[in-house]
Amino acid sequence: MGVKEKFPPFLLTKRRFYLPELKKLVIKFSLLFCMQMTLDHKNGRSPLLPARNSIPMKYLFGPVNSRRLGLSQGIDLLTTKTCNFDCIYCEVGGTLIHTCKRQEYTPTAEIIAEIDELLSHENLAKPIDVFTITAMGEPTLHTGLGEIIRHIKEKSGKPVAVLTNGAMMHRADVRQELQAADIVIPSLDSARAESFRKIDRPAQCVDLAEMIEGIALFCQEFSGQVWLEVMLAKNINDQPRDIEALKEAIMRIKPDRVQLNTVVRPPLENFAKPLTHEDLSRIAEQLPGNVEIIASFAKREHDSWRSPEPGEILEMLQRRPCTASDISEALNLEPAQTNRLMEELADQGQVLKMVHQGRTYYQPPHSH
Ligand code: SF4
Repeated sequence: MGVKEKFPPFLLTKRRFYLPELKKLVIKFSLLFCMQMTLDHKNGRSPLLPARNSIPMKYLFGPVNSRRLGLSQGIDLLTTKTCNFDCIYCEVGGTLIHTCKRQEYTPTAEIIAEIDELLSHENLAKPIDVFTITAMGEPTLHTGLGEIIRHIKEKSGKPVAVLTNGAMMHRADVRQELQAADIVIPSLDSARAESFRKIDRPAQCVDLAEMIEGIALFCQEFSGQVWLEVMLAKNINDQPRDIEALKEAIMRIKPDRVQLNTVVRPPLENFAKPLTHEDLSRIAEQLPGNVEIIASFAKREHDSWRSPEPGEILEMLQRRPCTASDISEALNLEPAQTNRLMEELADQGQVLKMVHQGRTYYQPPHSH
């Protein structure tokens, strides 16, 4: 083997060739550095720190502008759809593991490491209003829940919200772990066994009466906020006797808020249909307590629109189908550019378009 084969040509170049090459490299890196600074300023980020979507994350997603919570950093505790329900309106697909078994489905240490990674970048952590624990399924099935909530509170000092279907709240260990949160949002779609089975399709291990008692007990013990979410589907759980049973359950539970929702997003089952706003208003008037209708995203000030980046949009669509305006609102992206980018991604086959209730939704090509 000759010398030229052993050493790269760069090292063999005579001095008069080496210096111009070095100068070119310095200029190239300086230009890249300046471009990144400019882009970061345009995107409203501090320069020299990584863009959110440049940090590979398995469990953290967003942040997204939540209708209820403001700028919400999502934490997904499960990576395979694992739930004790199989709701007809579910946005994350059919339940693959239908169970009430609590276990460490994903490593708690890996989730905590991602949280710490995010918190180590002040420009990413500072704007977050709340950390929201959710899952590709039911987060209270994960035995690391309490440790994760406490870790976020200790390290960030920010509020933590947990979205749950409420079915595990009869268990003392689950209620104990949820105590560390600031806002808990359990669901109660029906207090009547028949319509409960129709809309939520619970696993056999779920007991409706036990679940209602568990949520009520938690409300008595918890010093934070409990917002009870009720998802209504036309002719499934919206009949007068359903509303009557719901009224009694709400009087027993006494949540801080009752939030009425309906099937506005593409559901798992086509027969899950939405109620009209008038139907929801009529039902809201019949229910006790502080009842509100969740109808649209909370309006935020958009003085700092960002330019859309395909990676973060595709990551968001992995979790649920969205319209271009959902994406723009949730990720704070410039609306016209987001519309154009979504059309381009659809033309390239990177996303699929589907029309539901007159609105165009985008989803990954491999979803249901
Ligand atoms: S409880 Fe939530 S995750 Fe589970 S099936 Fe229902 S909507 Fe989907």
